[in-house]
Amino acid sequence: MKYIRLTNSMSKEKQIVVQGGQKIEPIKLYVCGITPYDLPHLGHGRCYVTFDLLYRLLSFLGYSVTYCRNFTDIDDKLLNKSEKEFGTPFEFSRIAHRYIAAFEDNMLSLNCKKPTYEPRVTETIPEIIDFVQALVDSGHAYVVGNDVYFSIDACPDYGALSHRKLEDMEAGARIAISEKKRNSLDFALWKGEPDGHYYKSPWGYGRPGWHIECSAMAKKFLGNTVDIHGGGMDLLFPHHENELAQSQVLQKEPFVRLWTHNAFVQINKEKMSKSLGNFFSLQDIFKQIDPQAVRFYFLQHQYRNPLDFSLHDLAIARQAYAKLAKQFDPIAPIPFDGAEADVIIGQMVDFLKDDLNTPGMFGVLYKHLDLIRTDSQFAGKVKYLLQTVLGLKLVPLEEKEIAITPEIQLLLDQRERARMAKDWAKSDMIRDQLVGLGYKVQDKKK
Ligand SMILES: [Zn+2]
Repeated sequence: MKYIRLTNSMSKEKQIVVQGGQKIEPIKLYVCGITPYDLPHLGHGRCYVTFDLLYRLLSFLGYSVTYCRNFTDIDDKLLNKSEKEFGTPFEFSRIAHRYIAAFEDNMLSLNCKKPTYEPRVTETIPEIIDFVQALVDSGHAYVVGNDVYFSIDACPDYGALSHRKLEDMEAGARIAISEKKRNSLDFALWKGEPDGHYYKSPWGYGRPGWHIECSAMAKKFLGNTVDIHGGGMDLLFPHHENELAQSQVLQKEPFVRLWTHNAFVQINKEKMSKSLGNFFSLQDIFKQIDPQAVRFYFLQHQYRNPLDFSLHDLAIARQAYAKLAKQFDPIAPIPFDGAEADVIIGQMVDFLKDDLNTPGMFGVLYKHLDLIRTDSQFAGKVKYLLQTVLGLKLVPLEEKEIAITPEIQLLLDQRERARMAKDWAKSDMIRDQLVGLGYKVQDKKK
């Protein structure tokens, strides 16, 4: 397979990322980052491991990549948390500081490479204001008091990315209609605030709406066209639809060549999220399972498929990863070029090129695992691939952490069911049992 292909959320088809002969130009990758108001959870882990894999794969194949990922460091959620903790919304940067540190720590543990740029909203205010002004000047946005709204009436393709019909969206949005908006789907570019609050703008004091930051940051760091724009599936609408609308109306060239989204981590078929209160923070998970094994667990699933999380499956993945790490421990990695042809390794790389099909890649690996013992060239190259592209450190895990016996599996299952049913007494009882068997069990907050 010559090219790397990814599923484009817009066409719902696999699309070649870059045509041949374009290797000189860096590939521009933009991935929406976090709103740092709470601890990052497994869903964040999956998203950023997915795009880290893409970043690593492109680099391995010889492309240079400019990778930009933002922090939404001013937002209602941050202001509310600041109000709750400090009695004032104006300490929001202390909240941001704390959770950005947690996020960076988690990313390091998951062996995710740092993006080229990590802009913050609070450091991009002049560019955001300029962007909003350009939209007002071009007639795509309107000012109401101290607020500025984007007018979706000036945008006939609105809904094309998320495959939504305008009528359906309007019917849904009418319930929450604001007196200030001309159309119920119009969204805030700038939120007016009392004098002296937050930032000064041509429309008075205030702060940016959510969506505008990514358009302004993409333009600032990557130029008018982003080659690959990624994020979690939950960002498809309205966030990415709005980003696309506000960026595209100002230019002829495409804002994004390829939109790609990773599926959710879910529990009992429900999306894992803070708002649903069914999330596991990465920090809590890492206390139980080595982050290397958590990364391996994510990569065992293709990014487009929902991942039904269970502690039991994670423990099984940990066991498989520990075995793999142990097997590769004595082997010295042998660097090789992405273009280098080698039948079995070529098959592994081809699976990765085909929409990041990591399960397919692992399938080839496991089929030929015996070769590791007999063919040192093969073994060294595979180790290099796993370390460099998959980002698996392959450092042997401490044996004491977990040895899953059928008995332990049963207890983990039962405990998980009890926790899902919020049967804390039972869950505590099983925890005590596990502790009694010599296992350390860390509880997340109830
Ligand atoms: Zn974004």
